[in-house]
Parts: sequence; structure tokens; C-alpha cells
Amino acid sequence: MSFPATTTVTPEEAVRVLLGAERVRRAFGFFEAGAAEFDAEHAAIVSVPAPPFGERARAELMREKFEACGLEGARIDAEGNCVALRRGRAASPLLVLSAHLDTVFPEGTDCEVRREPTGLMRAPGVADDGCGLAALLAIARALAGCGIETEGSILFVGTVGEEGEGDLRGVRHLLGAGEWAGRADAFVSIDGPGLERVTHAALASRRYRVTCRGAGGHSWGDFGVPNPVHALGRAVARLSAYPAPKRPRTTFNVGRFEGGSGVNVIPRDARMDVDLRSESPVELGRLDAFFRRAAREAAEDENAARRAGAPPLEIEVKLIGDRPGGTTAPEQPLVRLAVEATRALGSRPYLDCSSTDSNIAISRGLPAVTIGAGGASGNTHTLDEWYDPAGRDLGLKRALLVALGVVGLVGFYENSARL
Ligand SMILES: [Zn+2]
Repeated sequence: MSFPATTTVTPEEAVRVLLGAERVRRAFGFFEAGAAEFDAEHAAIVSVPAPPFGERARAELMREKFEACGLEGARIDAEGNCVALRRGRAASPLLVLSAHLDTVFPEGTDCEVRREPTGLMRAPGVADDGCGLAALLAIARALAGCGIETEGSILFVGTVGEEGEGDLRGVRHLLGAGEWAGRADAFVSIDGPGLERVTHAALASRRYRVTCRGAGGHSWGDFGVPNPVHALGRAVARLSAYPAPKRPRTTFNVGRFEGGSGVNVIPRDARMDVDLRSESPVELGRLDAFFRRAAREAAEDENAARRAGAPPLEIEVKLIGDRPGGTTAPEQPLVRLAVEATRALGSRPYLDCSSTDSNIAISRGLPAVTIGAGGASGNTHTLDEWYDPAGRDLGLKRALLVALGVVGLVGFYENSARL
């Protein structure tokens, strides 16, 4: 059986039916009453650092917690994802319900959570994606504690490598190579806070590390030897003049630039990291081609101006990130389900385009959305990141409705609560 299973029930009806189910209402009560425990568990997860390519300790903690929630087969897979199954009556439809383990913060960052008297939590990664991980556990506990039986099954996953140079390696492995590859029928990522956003479109991006090398020398004595910093400067000037369209939204950024050793030294090398994004794969392709040409021509210009006999610069443009784009159509039942669940809980849903773990699911043709975990946040990706858990219960309720809409509640209206 795949998702959506053939049935007469619309996503809108499914939400209505679920809202009337006694066990779902009991789960809602659990989400309302459990705020203090969710906050404490959330803080415990976030205080275990999960730097890029260093998620192991947090994955191990999540594995223990998955097990304690009654999930089956909790383990860490070959890529480092933490996975565990909530078995339903059948193996399918199989929903992957995920949040990402990794943060953008390097090893050694103090991740201890500070609580303010208002309840606000402060820590690097507390919102992105600490609140998503906490949501997975709250939902797993609600399913077990409220005796919710499902038709299909739910694979709970904490993924590695969602941020930056991780390049979605965790979800790539999960859906493309690991033991669960090819088995999911739908994919939902809980990433960051909020109640209104339904990310159904995957923002495509390409990322490059550009390295330029030359002979180097004395700034006065060797003047005319080509300068790698100057060459990359020429490339930046070209890129920053690119007429990026507002619609479809298309952006570029030189996010890191380094090189050289002293003010009177012609550097031997320089590097920069470049991020290119677009809502449209066609526009991204155009920007990508422009950028690669700009880098090559910038080096050629610098070389053309060199003094006689000086060796030319070499430039290397290396792809370090490639996130595919795509869309889960707004009329797809999963999107309608997320929109309707949002509305039913009193929020105003809006469809969004972003770069998340769902990119990989969408590019593989799986229905996928990314939703918020409830609550609010600010200063994301900075050391001042904060999360306000007020309203967390609404995010948990929404995620539960979406999950149950996909896998179906057993014994209710003859399975009519499944899409
Ligand atoms: Zn995130």
C-alpha cells in the first residue's frame, strides 16, 4: 500500500475525523499537560553538542530516548542517523517523521541551555533543530501513552548533516542507500518552530569552494606576479553585479573569504565559499553557469595583467554542496493535510519554499513537507539563538494530526481516518 491509499476520504475530512477521535483528544491533553517535561527533555538534548560531522553523542542520546519511548529497533545507521520504528498494523504506508540532529556550531561551542523566568530557552541550536527533536519524542510518547494504534507505520529519524556542508547526507543515505531506502511513502520533517509554515517546495542550491593559487612574492619587489586575492576579488565583483531576479527568488552569497599572510606579501593562495540559490532550477542553472564563467574569467584577467615571466595563477572551483529542488504539489494530499491541520488548530497556514531535509525526499518523488514544531524563536544560527516554548502544544498537535492522517488510525470509522 502506498500513500495516499485509495479511499474516499479527503484530507480535510481526515483531519475532522481525527479531531473527533477520543485517543487523539487524549494525546492533545498530554501535549498540554506535559509542557514542563518537554522543556526539560528539550534542554537535555540541546546541551549535548552536535557540530557538523560530529553528531554521534546526540544521536546516541536520541537512540536511548527512542527506546525509552517504546519504539522498536532503535539504532544508529551507517551514516549516523538515529532511526526507530513505531510499528502499525502494516508496514505501509510508511511515514518518515524526522528532525535533524546537527547544528551549525563548531566543536567546543557551549550548548548549555539557559532558562529565563519567562520560560524562554537560550542556547545555540535550541530552535534549529532542538525543538524538532523534542517534538519527535513528545509524539512518540503520546502514541504509546494514549494507546494510539495505527494502520501504517512511522519511522522516527534524527538525521545528520542537514546544515551547511553536511549537504543533506543523512537523509540522502536514509532514502537512497540504507535499509529503509525505497520504503517510505511520505516524508515529514519537523524543523524549527512555528505553526503556520508548510514548506512544500524545496529550494535548490549549489555551493562551491573556490581556491586560487600562485607563486606569491614580495609586494614591491615582485609586483606583477598575479595575486590570488585580487583574482578572487575580480570574481566577487562580477558575481555581485549579477542581475538576480526577484521572482523566482534567486540569491548568491560569498560567505567566507580568506587568504594571504601579511600586508606586504603577495599571497600564494586564497579561498572563498559561495552559496547560490533559486526557487527555480532553470534560474539556478543560469546563475551557476554565470558564476563558474566569472571565476574562470577573473583568473584569466589577473593572469593577462601579469608581468613577463611570472607564472600564471591556477583556479579550482569545487562543488561542495548540491541540493536538488522541486515541489510537492499544493493539491497533493500530504500538503492539504498539513494545511488543514494548521487551519483546524486556529492558525493561518502558508506554503513556503526552503532548503530542508525534504529536498531529498521531494527530488526522489516522495510527497514531503517540512513543518514547524510550535513555539517561537529568534537569532537562529547565532550564539544568541532562543526558543520560546509557549504554544509548543499546538505544534505537537499539528504534527500528530499530519502523521495520523498519513498512516491512519486503527478502528475508527472503518479506517476512514486514513487518506
Ligand atoms: Zn534546521
